[in-house]
This record gives sequence, structure tokens and C-alpha cells, in this order.
Amino acid sequence: MRVLRIILGDQLSTDIAALKGLDPASDIVLMMEVMEENTYVPHHKQKIVLVLSAMRHFAEALRQRGVKVEYVALDAPENTNSLSSEIQRAAARHRPDRLVVTEPGEWRVQEMVNSWQVLTGLPVEVRGDDRFFASRARFADWARGRQMLRMEYYYRELRREHGVLMAQGQPAGGEWNFDALNRKPLPARTRPPERLRFAPDAVTRAVMALVEQRFAANFGSLDAFGWPVTRQDALRALADFIDAGLPRFGDYQDAMKAGAPYLFHALLSPALNLGLLSPREVCEAAEAAWKSGAAPLNAVEGFVRQILGWREYVHGFYWHVMPGYEDRNALAATRPLPEFYWTGETDMRCLREAVGSTARYAYSHHIQRLMVTGNFALLAGIAPREIERWYLAVYADAYEWVEMPNTLGMAVFADGGQMASKPYAASGAYINRMSDFCAGCRYDVKQKTGPDACPFNYLYWAFLIRQENRLAQNPRLAMPYRTLAGWSAERQAATLAEAEGFLGRLK
Ligand SMILES: Cc1cc2nc3c(=O)[nH]c(=O)nc-3n(C[C@H](O)[C@H](O)[C@H](O)COP(=O)(O)OP(=O)(O)OC[C@H]3O[C@@H](n4cnc5c(N)ncnc54)[C@H](O)[C@@H]3O)c2cc1C
Ligand code: SF4
Repeated sequence: MRVLRIILGDQLSTDIAALKGLDPASDIVLMMEVMEENTYVPHHKQKIVLVLSAMRHFAEALRQRGVKVEYVALDAPENTNSLSSEIQRAAARHRPDRLVVTEPGEWRVQEMVNSWQVLTGLPVEVRGDDRFFASRARFADWARGRQMLRMEYYYRELRREHGVLMAQGQPAGGEWNFDALNRKPLPARTRPPERLRFAPDAVTRAVMALVEQRFAANFGSLDAFGWPVTRQDALRALADFIDAGLPRFGDYQDAMKAGAPYLFHALLSPALNLGLLSPREVCEAAEAAWKSGAAPLNAVEGFVRQILGWREYVHGFYWHVMPGYEDRNALAATRPLPEFYWTGETDMRCLREAVGSTARYAYSHHIQRLMVTGNFALLAGIAPREIERWYLAVYADAYEWVEMPNTLGMAVFADGGQMASKPYAASGAYINRMSDFCAGCRYDVKQKTGPDACPFNYLYWAFLIRQENRLAQNPRLAMPYRTLAGWSAERQAATLAEAEGFLGRLK
């Protein structure tokens, strides 16, 4: 019995379902670098390097363990450059009795997997991806019959079920959520820690050369590439975060600082999403830090909430709402994506910082994604699909299952509230409170109107005016709509005109 076991680019875990029961004497592991996967959006150069280098290291680690690996490199002359045609080619070459694959992370790839049985004439076994705490079916069970799919309740169930931060059946410290202690602005004198980054080794350097040659026009630079590409380095990155970031992660989770893209964040999403780290071990490491007194509970709970809460939730949510979710546009937003999302050329310093660090590091932390680039897209009415494709292209950790709900559901409210209870719309005051960007900006965050006024201010009110029919009944927006009710029709019209004038001048 010969089994062809397929490992996709984000399935780089040695204990992944598709490798269970592998017989090194007869089985073959197939890994493929194909143009199709590298071009479905114009990925940041660092994302391509990260995935290809991690794949090459993973293949080598399997070989060291005596596994036969068939590896199709991007520049191999016989490469047909699509997953399905490479599967067909490998099946013809090796004549296996069946194919085994772990369920893919994205709908797009699942559709391909569904075609492989007919394509190859062989049985295809698709195994569940047990690298998450909860399966897709677990989420579907939870979601059944619920009108609102709020993360908080799913998170509490998973904490109970998996005994994470629990004490005698109750949440550790007596609360599920310590957000009241978190989310402080960063004091000016607080210096963020130096973070462990990884110098590219020979394998990564070879991939860098390939990417510079084949993807020269893609967004972003490789100069600051420092992502872990092996399991060993991913474990070192985890240890570095637990030591240097976690103790103050909660306090400054929402803070932003010019020139300091990482602050106290984990920088672990690229390794987690590739499978180099498991969410379980990451939560265990954080919980152990709390138990040993190395990190306070507000930080550890805040961090666990991101992984066991948000990450699990968006994974289940994606598979629950796909297909069809990609076309949601509840706020009827149609504006094209402004050029500055690619060039960073804008006078708005917050956006310049967010896009600049995205280009340099293929990273920006959650609040920059949500409250700067996301908030602007929401207020400006950028077409959801355009901003969604941008997020999928520009980050090292971007995969549709995690990126799409965050963009469409959280950042631009395109699902009309299926995921978030209100749009995350904010004026310049929020950005000013949470960052030091405004001090060096050409615009004045305190001014509400006029050529020097912060555009986020009038865009915010114009958004609420434009969307009044859709949003005024939302109880969480009662306050701003009460304020608007006190505005004269002329003031509302002038705000709309000012916003339109600004947006009309954007290229
Ligand atoms: C518009 C938008 C797009 C996003 N696109 C992606 C994406 O493509 N890939 C991705 O992994 N994350 C995405 N996120 C979520 C989040 O911003 C990143 O996971 C986080 O910034 C990664 O950096 P970190 O590892 O330093 O995270 P930290 O802030 O230190 O958080 C720790 C971990 O929690 C998980 N996490 C935190 N927030 C979320 C969230 N909202 N959803 C899912 N997991 C979360 C991540 O695995 C992360 O590594 C997006 C958020 C927004 C608002
Ligand atoms: S003033 Fe407005 S545009 Fe400038 S950095 Fe602050 S929030 Fe951004």
C-alpha cells in the first residue's frame, strides 16, 4: 500500500494529521511550490520568502527523519505551477494507492482538493486539521441557532473545555476578562524591548534571490526579513516573547508608537499560521509564565484571549460563513483603494507609519490594522473586496481564513454586524490618545474642520451621517447619533461636503 501524503505550504507541523501513520518504507510526502499559490494576490515579498523557506526547511527536517519527500521547487523546469496539476503529475509518477491530505485552511484550496479524486482516479482522504483547539464542527455546533456570534461566549466555552486559565471550574482570578486593566497608552519614557529576529540562513538567502528575481515588482522590502523559518527558531521566538513582551502585553496591547512597530506584541502569527508553533503550546507557555510569577494575569488572560478566543473564533467563523462571505458589503461601500495603501505617500502620519512598517516588516500590530488602515477604509467607504485583498497581500501572517473575517467583519463591518456588535469607527481623538503620531502630523487632531483639520475627524462624522439609515438603531452608537441629532442640516451638509472634497482629492 503506497500513500501519497500531501503537505500544503501552511501545514508545516510534524504531527499534522496527514502524516499520522506514515510508513517511511513505502509512502511519499509531496510538497509543491507553485506560482498559482504565490500569485493569487500580489503577496509581500517577505511572505513569499517566509513560506518557501519554511517549506524547504520542513522538507529537509522530514528527510532527516528518513521520510521520502518529493519536493517541487518553484524554479524546477518541469513544474506546472498549479497544485492540482502537480498532484496529477505526482500521482502518475508514483502510482500510489491513495492520497492523504489535511483539510486546507482556505475555501479556494478546498475546492481544488475536492477535485483531486476525479482528477487522479484515486481515493482522497481529507483529514481534519487538529492543530486548532476546536474543529470546524465544534464552531458550527456552537453557532447553531444563535443570532449573534460573539467571540466572548465562544472563548469562555473553550476555556472551560480545555481548562485554560481555570481554577476549580471558575476563571482564574475570578474574571473572564481583564480588559479594564489593559489598553493603556504608552508613557513617553517607556522603551519597548529589543526583539529577537533571525538572520536569514543559506536556504532563506537562496529563496530571497529567487523572490527578488521572480517577484521584483511585489510590495515590500526584504531588507528587514527576520521571521523564524524553522520549528527551533519559532520556539526561540516564543521564549523571547514570553520573556520580553508578555509581562506588559496587556497594558500596552492597544498602544501605538512611531518607529516602534512591535511594542510588546508576540510576533508569533506567521509561525502559528504556518504550523511551526501550536496554539496549545503558546497558551501553555503564557499560562506557565503567570503561574511562575513572570507575567501578571491581565497580560496572560489578554494574550490567551487573542489565541484561544479570537484566533479560534475567526477560524470557526470563516468556515461557517463561507462561501459567500467574500461578497458581503452591508454598508454599500464602493470607493477604490487609494494609492497610498501601496506607496505610503500621504500627509496623514498615522497611515504613513502603518503602511511604512507594513512595507518594511510585513507586519503591523492589531491596532494599526484595525484602527488606522482599517478605520480609514471604513470611514472612506472603500470597497470591502479591495481592502480585503490588500490585507491578504501585505502581511507575513496573511491567510484568508484569518484575514477575511478580521477585515470584512471587524475592520469594515461589511457583514452588517454578524461578527462585531458595532463598526470600529473612530475619529482622530482615538488615534491621538493611543499613539504619538499626531504630534508630528501635518494635520491638527484638535481641529474638526478646515484645511488643517485631521481628516479622521470629519470623515468620522460624515460616515455616521451617510450611514444613518443603516446604523442609527445600533444601541452602541446611540451616543454619537444623539450628538448628530443636535447638528443643524447645514452643519451636516458641510461635513459631508468636506469629507467628499478630501476623498475626491485622493488618488
Ligand atoms: C484588518 C485585519 C486583518 C488581519 N489579518 C490577519 C491575518 O491575515 N493573519 C493573522 O494571523 N492575523 C490577522 N489579523 C489579526 C491580528 O492583527 C494579528 O493576528 C496580529 O496582529 C499578529 O501579530 P502578533 O503575533 O504580534 O499578535 P499579538 O497581538 O501579540 O496577538 C497574539 C496572537 O493572537 C492571535 N490573534 C490576535 N488577534 C487576532 C485576531 N483578531 N484574529 C485572529 N488571531 C488573532 C494571533 O495568532 C497572534 O499571533 C488581522 C486583524 C485585522 C484588524
Ligand atoms: S492628526 Fe489625524 S491624520 Fe494626523 S496622525 Fe493624528 S489621527 Fe492621523
